[in-house]
Parts: sequence; structure tokens; C-alpha cells
Amino acid sequence: MDIRERYLEILDQMEFHGDESDVPIFWKEDREATIAKLVDEAVEMLKNYREKDYNYDANVILSEAKFVLKVGRNTFSGTVDQVRQNDDNSFTLLDFKSSKFPPNQTFLDVDYQLGLYALACWKGVFKLPDGTMRMLEIPPEKLVIAYYQLRDHIPYKRNGKGFQAGDERGDPRRFTSRSRDQLKVLKRDVAAIASNINRGVFPRNPGTINCPACTYSGICTGDSRIDGLSASQVKSIETLTIQMEEAA
Ligand code: SF4
Repeated sequence: MDIRERYLEILDQMEFHGDESDVPIFWKEDREATIAKLVDEAVEMLKNYREKDYNYDANVILSEAKFVLKVGRNTFSGTVDQVRQNDDNSFTLLDFKSSKFPPNQTFLDVDYQLGLYALACWKGVFKLPDGTMRMLEIPPEKLVIAYYQLRDHIPYKRNGKGFQAGDERGDPRRFTSRSRDQLKVLKRDVAAIASNINRGVFPRNPGTINCPACTYSGICTGDSRIDGLSASQVKSIETLTIQMEEAA
């Protein structure tokens, strides 16, 4: 397969024929130059991805797999990028990312999304390629989670300290895992957050990365009150929110 041609086909499909093709694209720079850069980077990432033995030899059992997961009274749905079965009968869940800046290890170890994926592999129900639904029942001690930083496959353009032009940027896989105890705490946290949302409470979560890119920053002033709830209900929610923040 010619990766470049295929990638251009997919871009064309998304821009002109996809579900959201009616949404105008804001090109920060010249469209043709941006597309050329995107394609160059994508080709490098995919080419170097498939040349790695740990990818080429992988036993991929699920790819782009949809799941549903019950946590308390709430049902979550999502899509896991990939699940691989390893030679020692353990499993690796891969989450592919193409963002410029990967999160640090602490974030990976506490991130709710990766935790929910681990819980889904254990307790959730997956849609298999043949259309049937099945639990994977992978216990946490048999599961490794790999945050896969695809941009690490883009080689350096010039020499630097400890690397040369043409070198890739190291192992793109950042590993983490979850224990049974961590998943128990995750379920409690998620149930508390869902309970807040069901009551119409969305606590702010200010951060130097998320706020500048947030669509709601113009109205996120912290002035709003919670309509329709009594003062004691508001108080208990605020107490719960503080406890959650302290526990995080
Ligand atoms: S600006 Fe956006 S990201 Fe930041 S706290 Fe408000 S809602 Fe959350």
C-alpha cells in the first residue's frame, strides 16, 4: 500500500465527503503547504511504525474496538485503539496519540481515560469484528497500557545534543498499568463525577494547557450558581468536589 496516496485519499474524504465536511476548516497557514506537511509527517510516522519489530510481530486481537462499560448506574461507551496479546499471555492496550507534547508519567498513572479503558478490558463488553459482543475479562494484573506517541517516529531534522539528524525520538511507547485497588478508586471517582453531571454540576478544572484552548473560556467565570438545587444540596456537592480534588 502506498501510504502517501492512501493518506491523501483519507484527507480528501474527511475534508469534502465526511460527516463534518460542512464545518469550515480554519487553516492557520496556506492550505496546500499545511497538507503537504501533514502528509510528510504522517508518512514518516506510519513508515517507521510498521518497521518496528514490536509492531510488525504483534498479535493484534482488537483494533478500533468499541465497548460499553457500566460504572454504578451509568453506562459509558468508547473505542479502544488496539489490544494485543503477548507471548506470555498478558495483554497490551495501545492508545495512539499524535499530539506534539506527550503527558508525563504521573498523568499516565492517574489518567481517567486510560483507567476506564483498563476497566473496560476487565469488566466491559466489546464489539468484535464479526459483530458479536463479548467480555474480554482481562484482569488488571495481566494488562499493560501503552500510550503510543506517534510523533516520536518523526526523525530529527538537525543534529543536537545526543542525537543526529535522521534519528527517531526514542521508544514511542510510554507504559503504565492499573491495580485492582486503583480501578476501585477510579470507579468511585467516576461515579461521583457522573453524579455531579447528572445534577447539572460541572466543576471547573482550570489548567494551563486546557483553558487556553477551551471554547467556554469566555463564559467560565465561576460566577454561575446551580439552578434548581437547595442550598444544602449545593453545599454537599461543593464538599464532594473539594474531597475529589484533594484525593486527586
Ligand atoms: S476555561 Fe474551560 S477548561 Fe478552563 S476551567 Fe473553564 S471550562 Fe474548564
